[in-house]
Amino acid sequence: AAIGVAVALAACSGGRGDTSTDSKAHSNKGALVGVAMPTKVDQRWIRDGAAVKQNLEKDGYKVDLEYANNDIPTQVQQINTMITKGAKVLILASINGGSLSDQLDAAAKSGIKVIAYDRLLTGDKNVDYYVSFDNYKVGVYQANSLLTGLGVLDADGKKTGKKGPFNIEVFAGSPDDNNATFFYNGGMDTLKPYIEDGTLVVKSGQTDFKQVAIQGWDPARAKARMQNLIAKSYSDGSSVQGVLSPYDGLSDGILSALQGAGYGSAGKALPIITGQDAEVASVKQIIAGTQYSTIYKDTRELAREAATMSDQLLKGQKPKVNDTKSYDNKVKVVPAYLFQPVVVTKDNYKKVLVDSGYYTDADLQ
Ligand code: BGC
Repeated sequence: AAIGVAVALAACSGGRGDTSTDSKAHSNKGALVGVAMPTKVDQRWIRDGAAVKQNLEKDGYKVDLEYANNDIPTQVQQINTMITKGAKVLILASINGGSLSDQLDAAAKSGIKVIAYDRLLTGDKNVDYYVSFDNYKVGVYQANSLLTGLGVLDADGKKTGKKGPFNIEVFAGSPDDNNATFFYNGGMDTLKPYIEDGTLVVKSGQTDFKQVAIQGWDPARAKARMQNLIAKSYSDGSSVQGVLSPYDGLSDGILSALQGAGYGSAGKALPIITGQDAEVASVKQIIAGTQYSTIYKDTRELAREAATMSDQLLKGQKPKVNDTKSYDNKVKVVPAYLFQPVVVTKDNYKKVLVDSGYYTDADLQ
């Protein structure tokens, strides 16, 4: 520790009369932090970006917050600019987790610390920390809520004895997003025993990640795939009764395909549909009864943690983590701070989303 302090003091210009043990706090005061977010299509990233910026500014830092319109070259360009402008920390929510290696290497060369924000940065050693949620658990919760919605499990997660069979279909997120396989694995590990004992039937037969993944988390692609499934696997008069969907945007596309095919009217019930992010439009669908559940992840906590980590790194301190084994990015296991997801249905949305101040009642009207 004595050596660490000596080096830090030497690095701090002058250092005269600086009695603080964190002399880097002095040299990095008011430093620039680059924050790269993927898109504004999804409301959650708008909230994430704004909250990260606000927290950093409160701590006295300057912030360059950019959105990349889900376009990889745009994001690459934005991060290059942050590095050129002299950012000292980068907080990155990637579009494609494996596409930023050049930027990560350039950052490391300039002594810039990198925090992967919600989505892991893969295939490179120059990722210092990861802040996210327990993404495997998100998938488990989605699958459990599908089972609860179908009546196979009760509210306490106990088997009711109801055996179906229920026709379900499975969707997964974008293959270039590390989270997508975590959601999928959590979901499928949970559903597998029920598929094996015949309680659940995936009528299309499509259960492999490759078959069910939706590139770019694109609602239009999810809609097209659902239309396809309806035409190919349900033209015999049978119905889809459940859909495992990993994200509210996809749930929206899936719902629209189903409604277009007559579900939700003339005695043909909509299936139980899951989701993620508690997007306003989806919470409204949950209140209306057209979507069954979503997964709420308090992005305020995530944003606060990313800002705290940055502040600590800039002061030469070591951020606290609570997971050092789950997130192997193919080159190293990235130390992570993970938060816990929460299932939201019609029964608890008020308590979880409104009482916590995440939304107001008016937001959900
Ligand atoms: C995030 C989810 C989000 C999805 C699509 C994932 O990486 O963890 O919260 O639904 O991207 O934006």
